[in-house]
Amino acid sequence: MSPAIKGKIENLIKLQEIEIEIDTIRCQLGGVKQKLDELDLTLGSFKEKIEEDRIIIEDNQQKYRSLESDTQTNDSKMEKSREKLKSVKTNKEYQSSLKELDDIKEINSKIEDEMLQCLESVENIEQGIENKKNEYENLSELTEKEKAVINQKSEQDKVRLNQLDQDLNEIKKIIDPALFDKYNMVKGKVGMIAVAYVKGSVCQGCNMNIPPQMYNEMQRFDKLSICPHCQRIIYPVINEEEKTE
Ligand SMILES: [Zn+2]
Repeated sequence: MSPAIKGKIENLIKLQEIEIEIDTIRCQLGGVKQKLDELDLTLGSFKEKIEEDRIIIEDNQQKYRSLESDTQTNDSKMEKSREKLKSVKTNKEYQSSLKELDDIKEINSKIEDEMLQCLESVENIEQGIENKKNEYENLSELTEKEKAVINQKSEQDKVRLNQLDQDLNEIKKIIDPALFDKYNMVKGKVGMIAVAYVKGSVCQGCNMNIPPQMYNEMQRFDKLSICPHCQRIIYPVINEEEKTE
């Protein structure tokens, strides 16, 4: 067995582990801004709903005021009709004035109903806003907590990433440049996992069987082995635990 090859492969495995962890952490950090933005968006849309309700209330209040002014106009019309009623001379005139008065009364009663509806809906919406405000406060508190957790995790990730970058530099220094190039070439073809172990003569990179002769040769660590199916750099399981699995 050549300890040199075994050592080289162990370094490659270490390199791959570091690179995978760096990649995972970078992905997570990349998602942090999106997560924070989503939380803000949910909170923002809640606030918007409350604003929309306020606008509906204002519309109702405006409508109420305009109806109120209509009733005032009608009240003065009614006053005039009553005056007229006092001075009518014929029965026909009397009937017609009475009718006029009734009509105005009816209109006013309809307007008053509408005014009541306005007041009711304002009251309902105000209650709704009150409820939403409470929900908003709860949501806002939760959001702040969630943001704090995300930020704390991302701070930890950054520290870890820093350490990994240093580890990566260290391991790169001791890896044979030709092997490093080979590793990167394979990585370019198959993605993150360029080095795969072989268990029970099956390549764990592609799940295909390694020819028996090649599998036997691999155990000697005489040279670097490449999977004939996926072209990954392969090695037989190194620790005992994996072997007995
Ligand atoms: Zn393979």
